[in-house]
Amino acid sequence: MVIALLALLAGAAAWTFAEYMLHRFAGHAARGRIHFSREHLRHHGTPGYFSPAWQKALSALVMIPVAGSVGWLVVGFAAGVAFGAGFGLAYLGYEWVHWRIHVAPPRGPFSRWARKHHLYHHFGDPEANHGVVTGVWDRVFGTYVPVGQVVVPRRRVLPWMLDESGTLRPELAADYRVADARMARA
Ligand SMILES: [Zn+2]
Ligand SMILES: [Zn+2]
Repeated sequence: MVIALLALLAGAAAWTFAEYMLHRFAGHAARGRIHFSREHLRHHGTPGYFSPAWQKALSALVMIPVAGSVGWLVVGFAAGVAFGAGFGLAYLGYEWVHWRIHVAPPRGPFSRWARKHHLYHHFGDPEANHGVVTGVWDRVFGTYVPVGQVVVPRRRVLPWMLDESGTLRPELAADYRVADARMARA
């Protein structure tokens, strides 16, 4: 039981590593030469664009059994299944967190941090802050940028940042600043 639990946690940790590597290298370093990279750059270029659910489901159907098989080879069948399950659950968690970052305002310390961390990657520096659910691998690989305030180009502002009159919600003013195209670096 303890082994299975440890394997589950290890699987989840392995996903966060895969998330960092896929995003940094297959997403950005590939510079549009592979499908994943083209999809990811479209996510950067088009506000609100996410790859179709069937593509994500297909990736999950490949990645999760691969993770489970690696686990099976290393720690045996039962723990390997738990490893694959941890990997898969963390992957689903990542999809949820990433989607919420783009569509919903922060509700607590983690969601506030995750939005600033990821939206700085979008609007500040796409070479920084590749991790979405954790900053651990960015720290390990030297791409972590602590974010004070994110400067958001006006044409890219996310709907949750604005109030009914179309101005930045006052409670977000410490974390975000909306800039006109000329002023924003992104
Ligand atoms: Zn994103
Ligand atoms: Zn990116």
